[in-house]
Amino acid sequence: MSRVIGIDLGTTNSCVAVVDGGKPVVIPNTGGYKTSPSMFAISQDGKRLVGHLAKRQAITNARHTVHASKRLIGRRFDSPELQKATELFPYEIVEGQSGESRILLADKAFSCSEISGIILREMKRVAEEYLGEPVSEAVVTVPAYFNDTQRQCTKDAGKIAGLEVLRIINEPTAAALAYGVGSKVEEKIAVYDLGGGTFDISILELADGVVEVLATAGNTFLGGEDFDRRIVEHVLEIFHKQEGIDLRDDLMALQRLKDAAEKAKCDLSSMETAEINLPFIANDANGARHLNLELTRETLDDLVGDIVNTTMKSVAQCVEDAGLTPADISQVVLVGGQTRTQLVQKAVTDFFGKPPNRGVNPDEVVAIGAAVQGSLLVSEDKDLLLLDVTPLSLGIATFDGAFAPLIDRNTTVPVRKSHVFTTTRDDQNAVKIRVLQGESERADENHLLGEFVLADIPPAPAGEPEIEVSFDIDANGIVNVSARDVATGGEQSIAVNTTGTLSDEEIDQIIAENEDVELPGA
Ligand code: ADP
Ligand code: MG
Repeated sequence: MSRVIGIDLGTTNSCVAVVDGGKPVVIPNTGGYKTSPSMFAISQDGKRLVGHLAKRQAITNARHTVHASKRLIGRRFDSPELQKATELFPYEIVEGQSGESRILLADKAFSCSEISGIILREMKRVAEEYLGEPVSEAVVTVPAYFNDTQRQCTKDAGKIAGLEVLRIINEPTAAALAYGVGSKVEEKIAVYDLGGGTFDISILELADGVVEVLATAGNTFLGGEDFDRRIVEHVLEIFHKQEGIDLRDDLMALQRLKDAAEKAKCDLSSMETAEINLPFIANDANGARHLNLELTRETLDDLVGDIVNTTMKSVAQCVEDAGLTPADISQVVLVGGQTRTQLVQKAVTDFFGKPPNRGVNPDEVVAIGAAVQGSLLVSEDKDLLLLDVTPLSLGIATFDGAFAPLIDRNTTVPVRKSHVFTTTRDDQNAVKIRVLQGESERADENHLLGEFVLADIPPAPAGEPEIEVSFDIDANGIVNVSARDVATGGEQSIAVNTTGTLSDEEIDQIIAENEDVELPGA
């Protein structure tokens, strides 16, 4: 029996693990690193590069090097938050056919699922090399706060990578699984996960053999990238004032600055001051200019304080949604590289009134949890029960533009709810339903998952036909819709028009295109 791998497909870094001889192990890549940058590039001579190889040439090939593409997945091109978060991205983002975001590299508009698929395929290759056998099944993690579209796109990415994704699990839940496996104590824990692009908070109850998520909250557009951007903007402003030169116009300078800003941020986790030193950053009639400045931890805290506060608002809401108070939480597990920033640790410590647990590796724990779940899914002894929740309320738009929730956020999945629809006109033969996820009372402020048309309704007076529509959220957090005619019990046909996901034909085409491209290992 081939083994199931667990993949943490991160915004910044990806990590793969497997249960080997009863124990989860993180698999090092060819270079010996336990995580690989989630980066993809097409080099000047047309080679496809992934992971460390892509990262290594990012400065000189910024326009054709993709980082943080997970920030774009399942998102509309015209969404204002996307525009803002990617303002300083060196690669070009374009609008796809159904309004989704795509990435333009060497004349091809890559879908975000394809980029994620290429990264997953690399992690699969890393695992196969280590295990010395082919791997075909995986558990892949996603931010808990990912909506249905983002989960669907991740599933598509798995297919593109040649993997059967047995289960999509939430990153903080995976971390809790890795933390709590084998634990016999009953306790309530909080998992605070701040990575490069996303933030999640989950409150879980661990009891003998049961891992139950009580509540989850977060923000899929908030992470270390935003910390970096604050530093970059701060430095751009200082440099502009001092030298009268705007570095925004120079891609390579911007890329060097971004790298230096991130490095300074990381240094400030252990030091009081950090230096940003970039010789020959610009040139004008007066000659070469150098950028050299010192950043203190205090300045960093000022620059990012409001971001940290935003995460703490979600934490407070999540604890409340779980029906608990901070004192009920016995352990706080920190996940994600960005939790190494001291201001983050301080905010979490202050809120829960206790220092975070230091026993887990924040970079590896999610992949380990995914591997544990993978081995549980195929093993005979089912002595661990994992109960997760849906992060967002699911509902429909009413005729007056309001949002009518059918399944509330934090409902345990899988779950199924039905709703009976009828017609508003005599002999109306079709009803259009818009399905959304979100917490706003107004439909148009929530995320549109898709439109469903109930067709072929037999002629009848208004209000007479009864069509029962069932909304399922499966264990992956993915939504499925089905309908039946109440009178006849017959299946009703549904035309689904989902926004931003790939069709089966498109996936097949991408797989075929990628078959003859060999990626040099990273
Ligand atoms: P993801 O889950 O998005 O792949 P990671 O958990 O790998 O992300 O975290 C990546 C983020 O953590 C990056 O923004 C990186 O700059 C930040 N990070 C890594 N190490 C440190 C550190 N020592 N101090 C502060 N931030 C760090
Ligand atoms: Mg992560």
